[in-house]
Amino acid sequence: MGTRKKVHAFVRVKPTDDFAHEMIKYGDDNKTIDIHLKKDTRRGVVNNQQTDWSFKLDGVLHDASQDLVYETVAKDVVSQALNGYNGTIMCYGQTGAGKTYTMTGATENYKHRGILPRVLQQVFKMIEERPTQAITVRVSYLEIYNESLFDLLSTLPYVGPSVTPMTIVESPQGVFIKGLSVHLTSQEEDAFSLLFEGETNRIIASHTMNKNSSRSHCIFTIYVEAHSRTLSDEKYITSKINLVDLAGSERLGKSRSEGRVLKEATYINKSLSFLEQAIIALGDQKRDHIPFRQCKLTHALKDSLGGNCNMVLVTNIYGEASQLEETLSSLRFASRMKLVTTEPAINEKYDAERMVKNLEKELALLKQELAIHDSLANRTLVNYDPMDEIQIAEINSQVRRYLEGTLDEIDIINLRQIQEVFNQFRVVLSQQEQEVESTLRRKYTLIDKNDFATISAVQKAGLVDDDGHLVGEPDGQGFGLGVAPFSTRPGKKSKSKKMFKEQLSSLARKEGASSPVSGKDLDASTSKIQLTPSSKDGDVKDMLLQDRETSSIEPLASESPKEELRPPRPSTPPTKPVAFEDFKNERGSEINRIFKENKSILNERRKRASETTKRINAIKREIDMTKEALNFHKSLREKQGEYENKGLMIIDEEEFLLILKLKDLKKQYRTEYQDLQDLRAEIQYCQHLVDQCRHRLLMEFDIWYNESFFVPEDLQAALKPGGSIRPGMMPLSRIVSLGEDDQDRFSRLQQTMLPEGPDSVSFYNAKVKTEQKHNYLKTMMGLQQTHRK
Ligand code: ADP
Ligand code: MG
Repeated sequence: MGTRKKVHAFVRVKPTDDFAHEMIKYGDDNKTIDIHLKKDTRRGVVNNQQTDWSFKLDGVLHDASQDLVYETVAKDVVSQALNGYNGTIMCYGQTGAGKTYTMTGATENYKHRGILPRVLQQVFKMIEERPTQAITVRVSYLEIYNESLFDLLSTLPYVGPSVTPMTIVESPQGVFIKGLSVHLTSQEEDAFSLLFEGETNRIIASHTMNKNSSRSHCIFTIYVEAHSRTLSDEKYITSKINLVDLAGSERLGKSRSEGRVLKEATYINKSLSFLEQAIIALGDQKRDHIPFRQCKLTHALKDSLGGNCNMVLVTNIYGEASQLEETLSSLRFASRMKLVTTEPAINEKYDAERMVKNLEKELALLKQELAIHDSLANRTLVNYDPMDEIQIAEINSQVRRYLEGTLDEIDIINLRQIQEVFNQFRVVLSQQEQEVESTLRRKYTLIDKNDFATISAVQKAGLVDDDGHLVGEPDGQGFGLGVAPFSTRPGKKSKSKKMFKEQLSSLARKEGASSPVSGKDLDASTSKIQLTPSSKDGDVKDMLLQDRETSSIEPLASESPKEELRPPRPSTPPTKPVAFEDFKNERGSEINRIFKENKSILNERRKRASETTKRINAIKREIDMTKEALNFHKSLREKQGEYENKGLMIIDEEEFLLILKLKDLKKQYRTEYQDLQDLRAEIQYCQHLVDQCRHRLLMEFDIWYNESFFVPEDLQAALKPGGSIRPGMMPLSRIVSLGEDDQDRFSRLQQTMLPEGPDSVSFYNAKVKTEQKHNYLKTMMGLQQTHRK
């Protein structure tokens, strides 16, 4: 495979008593043939006419027996064909030169039988010699006459071309002629019968059709398919041997034909020149287009010419001088063919059925191997077969138990089982999601399908999907009920779908995976929470409110343990101050502790600042007093004129002491003042912390309070300027000052007094209050928005 080969070209000379010895000479190598033409004296003594040619071929067969011809020309091609290589043997030459004699031979004489019967003999002989292979042989016999196809082996009586409309079809498996009968031949004799039948048909046809048999091409094809008898071999080979008896190659001019004969001659020349073009194109590696479709002959032989097959050409020539011109023409054709290279390749195919069988066999073997390994490794018999429904159900149950926590681990058995475990994880997960989803729908969407207001309210609240798909039919009353377990917990106001899901799935977990949550169960547990018919026109908020006010509902056992730790809330909301005390002990305890801590630090700093201020004031007073005393001394001495002498300043002892004291006081003042400045900075910082904590505490409280007791409409009312405040709610002003006792206020006032005077107190108070109020409103708005969502 892959080695390039030339087309093998042989010349066979028809025996004759009138051999042109002077004109045709053979080389000693038996491969060369030289032609010598006598100068045409009519053209003059001196002319440019070529008179000598030398052709080098693969062999010259002169006076060669049919036997030798076969050995030289066909034997190798046939041997190669049984190894998977396509082969083509063609006879070319002018009419009567011996093409048919070479190819078919004399049918009446066994000794003179041609290549064709000998090929069949060799094929069957080789099949006998290859017991390891199952080889099938099929044959077909095609005649191409005037660009029409004729089946020479058609079982139908021949009536004309319209009855056998054959077409040349190209497929990935190669070229085949649709409509051409292909005959399975299990033995030599059958094959011969077919050959003779074909030859007979050829003669009959030529009579009935009044056609000149020398002007038709005949292609006898042997199809070989070789399967290995060893089952493990999935590969099989196919090959074709084409034995082609071409029409006479004589040129149109010589035949002097007219009319019908002229037409025939035109075709012959045409198809033979197309054959030559195609074969030359095949030999040119630079060419990627081969003109096979130009005529029926080349099209039908597309996968048997050149390319990947073994090709042999036998050129039949006359030995007489009178035929020298045609002989020369035939030899030119032969030498051109010889230059063509081919690249024979095996036609290998795969037997899919056999491949499956082999894989099955190997699988069985590997299973046995595994069983041996398992027993050696002391593993209990592990099944490697695909799992059945029961086994898969068992894995599903394991996964569910694992998810519930009742199964600690899932034993690993084999790869298949691990894959199934993961698969079942996915199955269980999606089932649970669906359960939650459908339970939710059932519980929250038992609403009259025509009640659009309610539906849209429910949609807004995110209780049903956007598609508004309602599950379940309306009950007798025709409208909704049942706002579910969460309504028994007024402390929870968040209605997010996600939360419902969580609650429900926790419920599902409790009930156990073996009995997944059914809508029916839940409906039963919540059936006491019935809304009054009037509620159907209200929105969800109304439903929730009424629910909350239906206070006689006991918490359900299905509530999560964490939630159960909380004491049940009273049905009527406590007043805010009362609630605030609860809050500080409950959720707000930590922030309240920090708040208190910060406040005590602040108070301590304030106290110190206050003391420092007192001291500074005292020092200031003393400074003033000392200054006064000094001034007094000064004025006293001025009166006595003690300073007048020499302009010198004379100071008495008392005065000196006063000066010293003043100096000391001023120093004290500076130190204390510095301390005070530092304290002020600290106080400012602490004050900031305390304010922040207070805001935080109030904010958290408001959230908590609203979550616990508050309802949106009340909130709106309360937030409206001058809106009514429900019992249990504190006036805004009271909330603002909440947490600030009188002592606080006093010390604040005292502190703020010092830096910027008493006028700043109201300023700071107003600022603080505005901030608090602002924060409060912000919190409320935030809540409102969350609620709307
Ligand atoms: P073609 O098919 O090329 O037109 P044929 O094969 O029919 O020519 O040959 C014409 C005649 O010549 C036939 O009667 C055939 O028996 C005879 N003939 C051709 N070649 C040989 C040969 N090598 N030995 C004996 N007879 C031959
Ligand atoms: Mg012939």
